[in-house]
Amino acid sequence: MNVPFVDLYAQYQLIQEDIDAVISDVIRKSAYIGGEYVEQFEDDFRSYLGSSHCVSCANGTDSLELILKAAGIGPGDEVIVPALSWISTSEAVSAVGALPVFADIDQNRLIDISQVESLITARTKAVIPVHLYGNPVDMDHLMQVATRNKLFVLEDCAQSHGAEIGGRKTGTFGHAASFSFYPGKNLGAYGDAGAIVTNDEQLARKTRALANHGQLMKHRHLYEGRNSRLDGLQAAILSVKLPHLERWTDSRIRLATGYLERLADLPIRMPQLRPDYRHVFHLFVIESDRRDELMSFLLSRNIGCAVHYPRPLPLLECYEHRNFRPEDFPGAGITSAILSLPMFSELTDAQQVYVVSALEEFFG
Ligand SMILES: *Cc1c(COP(=O)(O)O)cnc(C)c1O
Repeated sequence: MNVPFVDLYAQYQLIQEDIDAVISDVIRKSAYIGGEYVEQFEDDFRSYLGSSHCVSCANGTDSLELILKAAGIGPGDEVIVPALSWISTSEAVSAVGALPVFADIDQNRLIDISQVESLITARTKAVIPVHLYGNPVDMDHLMQVATRNKLFVLEDCAQSHGAEIGGRKTGTFGHAASFSFYPGKNLGAYGDAGAIVTNDEQLARKTRALANHGQLMKHRHLYEGRNSRLDGLQAAILSVKLPHLERWTDSRIRLATGYLERLADLPIRMPQLRPDYRHVFHLFVIESDRRDELMSFLLSRNIGCAVHYPRPLPLLECYEHRNFRPEDFPGAGITSAILSLPMFSELTDAQQVYVVSALEEFFG
């Protein structure tokens, strides 16, 4: 058997007719940039989350940067980010001229909120909680810390479409949230795409202008912005996919529960489910002290697996000048043990059984 890490074609086949039809429609109407499909998706996504404003843009990295810029964060400011994430989280901070300050991660592999508090200085303007792997950060606790210290809170929801705390969607707790629709994300386009959501009208307007050369009306350039627009084809594809997201998410959760039950007796560490938290399992990440050996074994059995991410952010080459040491981020040291198993809504039970038996064979 062959079990890919993720199978985007399997999902396309389920909705092929609707996707093909909408692509022809966009082409027939030449609705390539802006226009009705983009407006429709913004409205669909905003109401799916329960947020007042959605501003689409070219990708998730841009959405982080655009919000920070719209919030007035720049040179001389510090922004606290988790030590474990995809590089976009810290990259966006540097891109606006601010300094990313890294907080270690906790036992849920999420930003350690008690450490956030100890990292706050007079220059700290914002914090970016990342709902990593689809697992929500404790936003009540984080918002208490942020409110006490007047920090802007930007949720990085690139991996948490549909994740919830107490029935409320991630992306609606902070001052603004950033989403990526990179093809492999839980809601993925057929190319790059991203969005910002917020309940703050001023912030939404400024973000929208910045993403389109500083203009809200043609030729009225309020600021120097840039071109970071979502195109009509991607918007139309996302609107076709969005109504399926809840079902696809439930399927991921069912598969995660399957892994948790079937792998319970193996000497590996697995994500903990917390009551009231809807973890949407963008990734299903286990930890093993024999990670590299295990990974080679699974790959030799035609089972796709990967490491998200091989190194904590502060220990990447691009931050060498900051002289961090691994001992500064003991929690993020899990990067030497983590391994992401196949996880996508269309993964079949037979495929999962095959993955489980390979793991059982490895651990003897
Ligand atoms: C994917 C991702 C991003 C960036 O999204 P792109 O659309 O690829 O630019 C940002 N943050 C996290 C945590 C991500 O996983």
